[in-house]
Amino acid sequence: MPISNRNMLIAGGGAAGPVLAHWLARHGFAPTVVEQAPDPAAGGYLVEVSPQGMGVLDRMGVGERVRAAGGPLPDVHSHISGRERPIVLPQGHVGAVAIRSGDLSSILRDRADDGVEYLLGDSVTSVDEDADGVDVAFAHAPPRRFDLVVGADGPDSAVRGLVFGADAEGHAEHLDANLATFEVDNFLGVSDVMMCHVWPYRGCVVTTFPGNDRLEVELLMRNRTPAAPAEMDLEARYRFLEEVYGEDGWEVPGLLRAMRGADVRLAPSTQIRMDVWSRGRTVLVGDAAHAADPMAGQGTALALMGATALAGELVFAEGDHERAFFSYEAAMRGTVRAAQSLGPVFTRDFAPEGSRGEVWLRERTDAALLFGSRLMAQYGARSAYEYVGNDFPADRYARILAP
Ligand SMILES: Cc1cc2nc3c(=O)[nH]c(=O)nc-3n(C[C@H](O)[C@H](O)[C@H](O)COP(=O)(O)OP(=O)(O)OC[C@H]3O[C@@H](n4cnc5c(N)ncnc54)[C@H](O)[C@@H]3O)c2cc1C
Repeated sequence: MPISNRNMLIAGGGAAGPVLAHWLARHGFAPTVVEQAPDPAAGGYLVEVSPQGMGVLDRMGVGERVRAAGGPLPDVHSHISGRERPIVLPQGHVGAVAIRSGDLSSILRDRADDGVEYLLGDSVTSVDEDADGVDVAFAHAPPRRFDLVVGADGPDSAVRGLVFGADAEGHAEHLDANLATFEVDNFLGVSDVMMCHVWPYRGCVVTTFPGNDRLEVELLMRNRTPAAPAEMDLEARYRFLEEVYGEDGWEVPGLLRAMRGADVRLAPSTQIRMDVWSRGRTVLVGDAAHAADPMAGQGTALALMGATALAGELVFAEGDHERAFFSYEAAMRGTVRAAQSLGPVFTRDFAPEGSRGEVWLRERTDAALLFGSRLMAQYGARSAYEYVGNDFPADRYARILAP
C-alpha cells in the first residue's frame, strides 16, 4: 500500500530534526527541514549523549564520527568545601560521549542530506490546518502546503506556540533556578574532569571540553523569579554573576575574571511538560515537546530516541498520522517522565537550599553516600541515572533502522 502524508515539514535542524528527516527519507517520505540558523555552525555548548542516545547514533551510522569529534565523559570531582582533595565520583554513564552541541548537529545534518530538503535561515510564521493538509507561511520562503508538520525547534518552539496557542504558555515549568553558561580557555590546566562545588542556593560546575583546551562553566542559582536575560546586555549579565558569586572562594574568583570577554548564556531552568504532543496534523518532538532541563543531561538522548520513535511509528502506520502520533507518545512517555524527574533532583544537588550549616552537613552525608556508591560501582552496581532510557523500545524499531 502506498504511504500517505509523504510531504512533511520539520521545523528545527538541531538533534531531533535531522534524525527524523534521515529515517523518513529512507522510507519513502519527503521531509523538508526548516532551520532558523542561516549557517548552522559547529562548536556550541557541551552535551553528554547517554549510551541510549549513542545507540540511536550507531544505528544511524554516525556513532564513530560522534565519538571521534567528542570524547568519553570526564571524571566527576566533587569539591567538598574546605577540602583540597575532591571526592571522585563513579562514572555512571559508561559508553556515553561528551560533544559540542553544534558538532553533533553538523554530523547529523551531513548524514541526513540524502532525500532531505533544507531551508536554512528561515522559520515558520503561521500554520493553518484543514482536513487534508497544512498551509505553512515562512519568514522568507514563499508559503507552502504540507501533509504534516513536526515541531523539532527546541524548548522555545515556535511551532508549539503557533499550534497549541495560549495553552503553550502553561507548559513551561520553572525549576526555581537560573543557569548561566560560558566558556573560557583552560587556564586551570586541568584534564578530562568535571569539577563541582556548591554553596547555599548556588553551585558551580567546570568541565573540560574534549581535547582539554577550553573549559565550560555552569553557574546554577536558586531564584524563584525566572531570569529575564532578554532584558540584560552582556555587561549586566557579568555584573549579575559577579554579585551572586562575588563572595565565593575555590576557583570562582579566577573564573569570574576569565568570564569578562566571554559570551554568557543566562536562562531560567525550565522543563516543558505537556499532556499531549500532537494536535491534528502537527506533532512535537525533542525539547519542543518535553525539554528536560540542561542540568539533567538527558535532553539529547530523549530527542534522538523521540525522533527514532516518531519516524518508526510513521513508517509502521504507512503515514497514518493519528495512529503514528498515538503510538509515538506511548513509546516515549515513560522515558520522558523518568528523565524529567531528574531535573528537580539535579537543581537540588547543584544549588542546595538551606543555611551554610545545613549545606555543610548535607555535603558530608552526600560524600559518604558517594563513597558508598563508588564502592558499589566496583562490584558492578550502576546508578539509577544510567537507566533512564532503558524502557525505550529500541527493538521495536530495529527492523526499519538498518544503517
Ligand atoms: C547549556 C546547555 C547544556 C546542555 N547539556 C546537555 C547535556 O549534557 N546532555 C543532554 O542530553 N542535553 C543537554 N542539553 C539539552 C540538549 O541540548 C537538548 O535537549 C537537545 O539539543 C534537544 O534537541 P532538539 O533537537 O529537540 O532541540 P535543539 O537541539 O535545541 O534544536 C532545535 C533547532 O531548532 C532551531 N530553531 C529554533 N527555533 C526555530 C524556528 N522558529 N524555526 C526554525 N528553526 C528553529 C534551532 O536553531 C535548533 O537548531 C543542554 C542544553 C543546554 C542549553
